[in-house]
Amino acid sequence: MLAFWPAARRSLAAGTTRRRWLIGAAILFALMAPDLDAVMGPLVGTSIASYHNGPTHSLMVAMAFGMLFGLVCKTFWPADLRALVLLGAAAYTSHILLDWLSWGPGVLLLWPFLPDTRFASPVPLFLGVRHSVNAPWTTHLLTVANDSAFAIVVWIVSRTIARRGRTAPSNSGG
Ligand SMILES: [Zn+2]
Repeated sequence: MLAFWPAARRSLAAGTTRRRWLIGAAILFALMAPDLDAVMGPLVGTSIASYHNGPTHSLMVAMAFGMLFGLVCKTFWPADLRALVLLGAAAYTSHILLDWLSWGPGVLLLWPFLPDTRFASPVPLFLGVRHSVNAPWTTHLLTVANDSAFAIVVWIVSRTIARRGRTAPSNSGG
């Protein structure tokens, strides 16, 4: 996802302020959309955990979401439809990837082909929010520290890559 950042930033700079807010909100929505299944439980009178982390955390739904995202964003953002579909699917999939890397039961990555098989990283990097186990609130502090540390690492890596990209000598002169 972050590999797209320089191109995304150039693209964002081209938009009007209103459109930039809209595309920003759309990307934020795409990043969180897989967890909308948590709303289902309270809607039917059961707990948040009852429908959470189900088929919405699969690559199939990510692809379908990407297509919808592309079609909706195309109405206000002047970019190639394929790029928008890719952006939506990548943002959605990054959420699934982070859940895959989190402590917990894993994700239904290949639903509906393997509807009952959950996939989890052999080495969890993240503590996760842990709604489903009623963890004490202090574990949320650990989650915040854990996620912030990861965000700092990603930020440093992306800064380094961006700086190298700017200072690298051009080989295309012939
Ligand atoms: Zn999730």
